[in-house]
Amino acid sequence: MAEQKEFICITCPVGCTIQAIVEGEELRTMQGHACRRGIAFVREELTDPRRMLTTTVQVRGGVLPLVPVRSMEPLPKHALMDAIALLRKVELQAPVKKGQVVLPNVLGTGVDIITSRAIAHAAPNSSE
Ligand code: SF4
Repeated sequence: MAEQKEFICITCPVGCTIQAIVEGEELRTMQGHACRRGIAFVREELTDPRRMLTTTVQVRGGVLPLVPVRSMEPLPKHALMDAIALLRKVELQAPVKKGQVVLPNVLGTGVDIITSRAIAHAAPNSSE
């Protein structure tokens, strides 16, 4: 049975609001998209929704206690919470390089989690 669904396209910063008529995983009609990428977005949302993962992981011995990390590519939406749970258990040792692989092939998705910035080693405490 066909039903109307609303999507916010997250492919670019415009963020078009798209009204679509769908039947199961099939897209029937849609309006509100400013470009063809909106069509691909809705089709993916219906069959295999994906999101970029961004979070932080702990760093031992660095100038900062956390480093931001991200997925190299969007992950299946259903895998996001499990991936975040895995990353909570990770502790990197400073120095950390930008683009360093934190978790390769996370949850068998074929997508690596990498650091988004470098974290230098903390200078030794001069009072010791
Ligand atoms: S439909 Fe096109 S213009 Fe609109 S948010 Fe998606 S990518 Fe951007």
